[in-house]
Amino acid sequence: MTLSATFEQMRPEPLFPLFAPVTSLKGVGPRIAKFIERLAGPHVIDVLWHLPNGMIDRRHSPSIANAPDGAIITIVVTVDQHHPPRNKRQPYKVTCSDGTGSLSLVFFHARPDYLLRILPEGEKRAISGRVEHFGGEAQMPHPDHIESVEKLESLKTIEPVYPLTAGLAPKVLRKAIDSAIETVPTLNDWLDPAYREKNGWSNWRDALLSAHRPSSPTDLTPLSPARMRLAYDELLANQLALALVRHNMRRLSGRPQAGNGKIRNMVRQNLPFSLTASQETSLTEIEADMASGDRMLRLLQGDVGSGKTVVALLSMLVAVEDGAQAALMAPTEILARQHFASIETLLQGTGVRLAILTGREKGKARQAIIDGLHEGEIDIAIGTHALFQEGVAFRDLGMAVVDEQHRFGVHQRITLAAKGKAPDVLVMTATPIPRTLVLTAYGDLDVSRLTEKPAGRQPIDTRALPLDRIAEVIGGIKRAAQDGARIYWVCPLVEESETLDVAAVEDRHRQLAEIFGDRVGLVHGRMKGPEKDAAMEAFATGKTVVLVATTVIEVGVDVPEATIMVIEHAERFGLAQLHQLRGRVGRGAERSSCLLLYASPLGETAKSRISIMRETDDGFRIAEEDLRLRGAGELLGTRQSGIPEFRMADLAHHQDLLATARDDAALVLSRDPDLQTARGKTLRLLLYLFERDAAIRFLRSG
Ligand code: ADP
Ligand code: MG
Repeated sequence: MTLSATFEQMRPEPLFPLFAPVTSLKGVGPRIAKFIERLAGPHVIDVLWHLPNGMIDRRHSPSIANAPDGAIITIVVTVDQHHPPRNKRQPYKVTCSDGTGSLSLVFFHARPDYLLRILPEGEKRAISGRVEHFGGEAQMPHPDHIESVEKLESLKTIEPVYPLTAGLAPKVLRKAIDSAIETVPTLNDWLDPAYREKNGWSNWRDALLSAHRPSSPTDLTPLSPARMRLAYDELLANQLALALVRHNMRRLSGRPQAGNGKIRNMVRQNLPFSLTASQETSLTEIEADMASGDRMLRLLQGDVGSGKTVVALLSMLVAVEDGAQAALMAPTEILARQHFASIETLLQGTGVRLAILTGREKGKARQAIIDGLHEGEIDIAIGTHALFQEGVAFRDLGMAVVDEQHRFGVHQRITLAAKGKAPDVLVMTATPIPRTLVLTAYGDLDVSRLTEKPAGRQPIDTRALPLDRIAEVIGGIKRAAQDGARIYWVCPLVEESETLDVAAVEDRHRQLAEIFGDRVGLVHGRMKGPEKDAAMEAFATGKTVVLVATTVIEVGVDVPEATIMVIEHAERFGLAQLHQLRGRVGRGAERSSCLLLYASPLGETAKSRISIMRETDDGFRIAEEDLRLRGAGELLGTRQSGIPEFRMADLAHHQDLLATARDDAALVLSRDPDLQTARGKTLRLLLYLFERDAAIRFLRSG
């Protein structure tokens, strides 16, 4: 049926040049390509999405005598004389003149032969750069452009300024972008003409071009017509892709599942606590969805530690009571194992057959699990993405839970959902996502929220300290450990920033081992699975009292005895991440604390993040603040996982567009579910353009 998904559809031809590698651009060889890929992405289209964040107006052409201090000027000069420096500390100077006065071009670390070649004495040159008056002399340090006289007029433009990365010269990047711009095809417009007109937007190509050619500072703002149009395109692609997934899931009608409550009662009796009111409410909502004939597509949002796991288990048991199977998919091996362990305990004495399947189950053991799933001898499967790989088939999957869903892409969501006969789907997120982002990450899902923490939790005492007081901190945790505390010590990841001076986990581990001996453990992403488990296990059982870790412990890890969280270089983490990390403590009855160690001086955004962390532990508030701070244009050092990263849209400014895009997408699909009409076909282009290819697999070919 509708999974004509089976025919892998191809990217439309007009888009080919846009998805060529960046090495196809002028002046981009393998070396430059690396920088550009890091900055923008691997394809020409990524370079095109890299928009200017500033501009330089080079249209002013005063005489030297009249050039104001600090102004950017573009003029023709005669090169008078070269003055090589007398020692290394002095700059190389080239004096020039225009009949009204003289101007010194100033070069530090100059290559004389090169300067002699581009600035021959006695000849005229067009130059552009900033003039400064220094000790009565007009100077231009390192002119931005030195060209032949004929080029004067072409230099006198407004030049876009692009965000850069270390190692990439502005000119090289600009040349690559200019060359990318030449490849931009004219595409049939996918926007509703009336809507486009109402907003005064141009077609996609013109909008993209004018976004790269600002003529006034307002053209650089998110609310300029060109940027609004591009943002809308992206949001429409996003909403359309999500709507297609949903539409398709709903095409398969659901199966009423009610269960008889027997196993759930046993489990409830096993619980050492009673459920919170919002856990109960969420369960009621989930049970009602499952009992109905419509397919469940529900998002369970709950802050770290709000107790999602038990809700997931009780929901899965509805299907199991009806003789169907259930699956819980976690984003990491550690989490899958942890869910397995806690669910195994909760299921004791119930007779429910539980299995775990991750990349680590191999050979015969793996085959036995796969057979068990196929034959229905396993009731609940817990695992990583290994669960939805080729060759894994369930006898009758009735319910699928996806934990920390935002780590998975739409594509994986689709594959999992295709495994059963329209299983009910519960998606769980630990990041309390603001409403807006729920829409971008999931579309219009039904939402249950766990709004309260289980009883008995104490607030976490959060403090910020400069890194140079680290010795004190180490002394403090030493005393705490003697009193029986267990401590997480988190270091930032070493990747992507050779230039940053990162305290590597291993160094820190070695240093702490001098104090704690073998009572300090280590866990990071490059360790093998069993090693990681062993390290977690040792910390969970108290064999180690300090666990030095990277953000691998960010999501979901549960050691209620841990009461101290030290985060080194806290300024390098995003708010949501800090909140997730802090959520690893404060899970038991003991009072917990969180120490944010930062490198001084703190930037404005980092300062705000840290003070928000100190002010509140309300995940929803933190998520809103995070959005606000990120909206301010701050580039986070460490990517927050989860929420789709938009290239053109900025949700701090384009929220209204999002709502319109959602309605537009819904309307389109209600009239043209397979995107077959003329507009439908152009919308397919749009999906490809923003790489929402996975969703296209849902369309009947056409
Ligand atoms: P998360 O929502 O972060 O996945 P978990 O499901 O891991 O949270 O639960 C965190 C801890 O709280 C676990 O140790 C769990 O057993 C415990 N817990 C869950 N629900 C309750 C409750 N109603 N009362 C007390 N403790 C609870
Ligand atoms: Mg969890």
